[in-house]
Amino acid sequence: MKRKAALHNLGCKVNAYELEAIQQMLEQQGYEIVPFAPGADIYIINTCTVTNIADRKSRQMLHKAKKMNPDAIVVACGCYVQAAGEKLEQDSAIDLVVGNNKKKEIPAILEEYFREKEEGRSGSGTWVTDMTHNREYETLSISRTAEHTRAFIKVQDGCNQFCTYCIIPYARGRVRSRRPEDVLEEVRRLAESGCQEVVLTGIHLSSYGVDLEEGQNLLALIRTIHAVDGIRRIRLGSLEPGIITEEFAEAIAALPKVCPHFHLSLQSGCDTVLERMNRRYRSEEYMEKCRLLRRVYDRPALTTDVIVGFPGETEEEFEASRAFVEEVNFFETHIFKYSRREGTRAAAMPDQIQEQEKTRRSHILLELDAQRRQEYMESFLGEEKEVLLEEKVELDGKNWWVGYTREYLKAIVPDDGKNRANEMISVRFSQIYHREYLL
Ligand code: SF4
Repeated sequence: MKRKAALHNLGCKVNAYELEAIQQMLEQQGYEIVPFAPGADIYIINTCTVTNIADRKSRQMLHKAKKMNPDAIVVACGCYVQAAGEKLEQDSAIDLVVGNNKKKEIPAILEEYFREKEEGRSGSGTWVTDMTHNREYETLSISRTAEHTRAFIKVQDGCNQFCTYCIIPYARGRVRSRRPEDVLEEVRRLAESGCQEVVLTGIHLSSYGVDLEEGQNLLALIRTIHAVDGIRRIRLGSLEPGIITEEFAEAIAALPKVCPHFHLSLQSGCDTVLERMNRRYRSEEYMEKCRLLRRVYDRPALTTDVIVGFPGETEEEFEASRAFVEEVNFFETHIFKYSRREGTRAAAMPDQIQEQEKTRRSHILLELDAQRRQEYMESFLGEEKEVLLEEKVELDGKNWWVGYTREYLKAIVPDDGKNRANEMISVRFSQIYHREYLL
């Protein structure tokens, strides 16, 4: 009888990609993949450690799995596991601890576990490498996408930046890039299976290629993927502003498959806070990068992340950050309340901000975000745009197909009873529906 495995992901798209790859490996080895519900023999939880909440959710999920089936094997893998290290071994809800760069070994680790069990031994164990010294890119791959039509492709791992608030370099290690020929092979495979849109992701995507031969960088990789037949859209994951040079902006603008949707991490619009964060740019430089993108594209969708309540962030500094966010005029701002991560430099900084104050600042930015989103969407009313349909949704008792424009605006069209998933259509927008969809 086939063993049943249930998988659950927490955190970013890189983690999601890795779990997808684990799932496809297990399927190939004859496991049956079942929903994350009672009844599985194995539960694999790909954890996250980016904030304290992510840690808590990771722990909760691991315990939930054990509760669903106390006889099942619970495998904890990923960033929370990597950062928490040996502490996890004492957690009775977890049978196997598998750190980053070891995920590829999960099928073999499971086999060993079962063998040991049959021999009457414990089977439990920990597989965690020291990420500080790991220089190897762990090759995982997918042959189809779990997303509706878009395939997220991991091309890079690790980060060398050490922003003072961030735990990720400790959990993910230094920059490692995936070989371009390996990326190309995966993209070709996905294109053959009908995938039209790929999203390039990494922990620090802008560093792609720094550890490869000269000439291998993100732009070269984009060009390689651009040449793949069947791929009609290339979207880029989060970028550092530093990568947007005149040459880069003009080069990507000349590649029609690259979507005019750029996520440039800001974190703060105030220079003194950026300095304390150890970010490598200042607000003026950031603004210049946005201008560059707006020069080569018509109304590109610029999105960003902002942290509120970084240690010592005064009211004036917050106001400077808010005013900058307003001035840039983003399509979307993802707002995060600063989370104190043990082991980082910012955790030891004086003047930590009260939770209540972080919430207040976050609400101010959320309001600005909602307003700007609306304005950006309104600017497309009356225009015709290409939409890649993804899935069916029900709104107000009616069925619709929902998809995305190249700018990543959500659009809907009435359901006509046909399966339209992965269909590229042209839509003229006349209204905004539920403040969320262009119609
Ligand atoms: S760039 Fe900074 S925030 Fe991003 S992963 Fe690296 S250290 Fe963390």
